[in-house]
Amino acid sequence: MPASSTPDLAGGLRKLLGEDRVLVGQDAQRAYDCDAYTVERSKPTAIVLPGSTEEVAAVVRWCNENDVPFTARGAGTGLSGGALAALGGVIISTKRMTRILDIDVPNRRLLAQTGAVNKKLTDAVREFGLHFAPDPSSQSVSTLGGNIAENSGGPHTLKYGVTVQHVVGLTLVDPEGNVITLGGKLASGEGFDFVGIVVGAEGTLGVVTEAWVKLTPLPKAVETSLIAFRSVRDATKTVAEIIASGAIPAALEIMDKGILAALRAAFGLQYPEGAEALLLVECDAAGEGAQERAEGEMRVACDIGLANGALDVETAQDEAHRARLWTARKKGIGAMGRIAPSIVTHDGVIPRSKLPEMLDMVFDVSQRHGVGVANLFHAGDGNLHPCFYFDDRDPDQVERVVAAGEEIMKRCIELGGSLTGEHGIGVEKMDLMPLMFSEDDLRLQAMAKSIFNRGMLCNPCKVLPNQKSCVEHRKRWRGVAW
Ligand SMILES: Cc1cc2nc3c(=O)[nH]c(=O)nc-3n(C[C@H](O)[C@H](O)[C@H](O)COP(=O)(O)OP(=O)(O)OC[C@H]3O[C@@H](n4cnc5c(N)ncnc54)[C@H](O)[C@@H]3O)c2cc1C
Repeated sequence: MPASSTPDLAGGLRKLLGEDRVLVGQDAQRAYDCDAYTVERSKPTAIVLPGSTEEVAAVVRWCNENDVPFTARGAGTGLSGGALAALGGVIISTKRMTRILDIDVPNRRLLAQTGAVNKKLTDAVREFGLHFAPDPSSQSVSTLGGNIAENSGGPHTLKYGVTVQHVVGLTLVDPEGNVITLGGKLASGEGFDFVGIVVGAEGTLGVVTEAWVKLTPLPKAVETSLIAFRSVRDATKTVAEIIASGAIPAALEIMDKGILAALRAAFGLQYPEGAEALLLVECDAAGEGAQERAEGEMRVACDIGLANGALDVETAQDEAHRARLWTARKKGIGAMGRIAPSIVTHDGVIPRSKLPEMLDMVFDVSQRHGVGVANLFHAGDGNLHPCFYFDDRDPDQVERVVAAGEEIMKRCIELGGSLTGEHGIGVEKMDLMPLMFSEDDLRLQAMAKSIFNRGMLCNPCKVLPNQKSCVEHRKRWRGVAW
């Protein structure tokens, strides 16, 4: 008999996992009703905290027997509603699955449970001169499982690539509860690349419980500079010219005047008089002559900045100084909390040469829709993050923020870019998918999904548009009042 009420459901799950591994009730529902994209919310019925692959598989099988939807969740820092329990049901949290299971230094591989926080991976291997290269700005809290599901990038993606380039093997609990191994420690590359399909599938193909990742040598030399400009246009032009010069810095990150104002308000940080944008440049190198190469690349970047009217160039003299220069980038989003109660960070990609005109458009859209915007983004990848600030208790402001975001996404596509660089489609951009993909493209994606997931139980109503039974629920997600 399927579980039809909260007590049935909690009782059934507690039999599998134990009393304290199943959370129900209003407080738990409220804590898990959204991720960091807070304009869409939906209550789960229960949250479970399994500790192993076998426990995850048992929960998924139980959900199948009882026709209950389930959604995997890591730290809930996702920015497109991916961890939202769209049709209610069970949230499978990986909070207790945080162990590093194996470190193989000679082969530069690490095996971890997917609830491990990104930074923990690097902390575990730094003493061997290695690191896990994908470094989302959320890396001190976001999990390996979330990074895999979203194919996360980060400031150093420009040089080192996104998550899919660093994951070689997965243990996946498929949507029916079978335990499947994809790839492996040394991934040989024969056959279909199922690891590549699961990475970036936003949790719609099952729950990843363990992963083998590559470890990358730490660079021998690192140069970091913060370049201040009079306008964000000068900063974006500099980025396009640095890339055109053939240099590939490890990071090229821009913060605009909105972010600088928030940083001043929150932390009292001061930047050069007249600065309306900062460009953080990091150049690194390994092997023979590393220092000269990193310095040479930095010289090229700074000269281009000065030719574009830079007001000031500050170069790190030691580790503490470097950390100080990164503060603006690392604390920028947190500082926005001083400006307004809610933010939505959009994520689109455009060709780098179009950055100056796209930023002009973002400011124009923000003015026309009457919502504030600040920008802090991975400029080297052409990956924009317009960050709209508003009050999500006011439905009118929510609608304006969503409309402004959609206008920006449409322009990204018109300019030859993409709907997402790293935050995924989730529920946020599902309806925009036809802007980028033809009907045939979408049909192929649905067929690929159906290899793993033929039903509506595993993370339903995400990524692919027009899924039956999601459309009417959608109206309820936005602005759910508690
Ligand atoms: C301040 C801030 C800065 C950020 N900076 C970046 C950045 O620089 N780059 C970037 O790419 N992103 C960034 N993000 C977005 C976010 O942190 C990433 O998408 C991150 O990978 C999400 O990890 P999480 O553990 O929080 O996942 P969650 O939000 O919990 O889940 C995200 C998705 O992953 C799925 N999922 C989670 N665990 C599993 C699993 N084990 N198996 C299958 N599916 C799973 C969920 O169902 C959901 O669809 C940022 C977010 C914030 C709030």
